[in-house]
Amino acid sequence: MGNKHKHATHIDFDTTPYRVNPGKAFHLRKRETYVDGGLEKDDGKDAFQALSHRLVELQENLYAEQKRSLLVVMQAMDAGGKDSTLKAVFGPIDPAGCHVKSFKKPSDNELAHDYLWRIHRNTPKRGTIGVFNRSHYEDAATVAVKSLAPEKIWSKRVGHINDFERMLTDEGTTIVKFFLHISKDYQKERLQRRLDRPDKHWKFNVADLEERARWGEYQDRYSEVMQQTSHEHAPWYAVPAERRWFRNLLVAKVLVDTLEKMNPQPPKADFDPETIVIE
Ligand code: ATP
Ligand code: MG
Repeated sequence: MGNKHKHATHIDFDTTPYRVNPGKAFHLRKRETYVDGGLEKDDGKDAFQALSHRLVELQENLYAEQKRSLLVVMQAMDAGGKDSTLKAVFGPIDPAGCHVKSFKKPSDNELAHDYLWRIHRNTPKRGTIGVFNRSHYEDAATVAVKSLAPEKIWSKRVGHINDFERMLTDEGTTIVKFFLHISKDYQKERLQRRLDRPDKHWKFNVADLEERARWGEYQDRYSEVMQQTSHEHAPWYAVPAERRWFRNLLVAKVLVDTLEKMNPQPPKADFDPETIVIE
C-alpha cells in the first residue's frame, strides 16, 4: 500500500464458471450460493485489496480518457447484499467518476413513460462508471412475477433490453451484470438479523416477505431473463453471495478484467512538457 503502483498480491482465478454462457441452458437452482473458489479467506481478502487498488487506477484512466463508459448492473433478491457489495467494491473509487443509481418502485411520473425512460437518463457519461442498484431487469422480472403488467407487455421486454444494451455497447458503453445469488435459507437468516438488531430495523420492509413467498417464481424468471440477455458484449455473472469476502472478490475481479480489456489510456499531452517552464 502507499504506493498505488505496487500490488501486494496478485491472484489469477477463473471467473468463467460464474458466467451465464450465451446460448447455453442456465438455472440459478443449479448454481451454488456458498462458495469460496478453493481460496482461504485471508488470501481472498488480500487479493481483494490488490484488485481494489487496480480498480482505482483503471477508473482514473477511464476518466482521463473521456471516451468510453462502464455500466455495472447489480440485481439480487432482498437481503442479497447489493448495498454492501457496492460499498466494498466502489467505496474506494473517486466519487467524481462513479455514480450509483438505485431504482425503486417507479414513481407516477416514471410510470407515465416507457420503462426504459428512467434507465436511459441514468446511463453513465463518457469517462465514468455507472452502477445500477436494481435496474431495467425489474421491469422484465419483478413485473412478470407480480403481474404488474399483462404478459403481452412484459414478454417483449427481453427483446427491448437486448436491443437497448446492444445500442449502448455500440455507442461506447461496456456492460457487465451481476446477480448476487443466495439461498432462501440464507435470506431468512439475513432478514431475521434485520429484526433482531434495532440498528437494522430501518432495513426491514414487511413487503419483502411477499417477494420471499414467491421465491421459486423469482428464481425461475430471473434464470430465464438472464439466460436470454447474457451476451459476450453484456454478460451476466451469477455471483455466489453467501461468503461475502468471495462475493466481493469475484465482483472486483470481473470488473478489473473488464476494464483491463477496455484498456483505457490517458490522452497524450498536446504540449511539450520539456519546453514549459513554471516560474
Ligand atoms: P434495501 O436493501 O434497502 O431493501 P432495495 O433495493 O430492496 O434496497 P427497496 O426500496 O426496499 O430497495 O425496494 C425497492 C423495490 O422496488 C423492490 O421490491 C423492487 O422489486 C421494486 N422495484 C424496483 N424497480 C421496479 C420496477 N421497475 N417495477 C416494479 N417494482 C420495482
Ligand atoms: Mg428492500
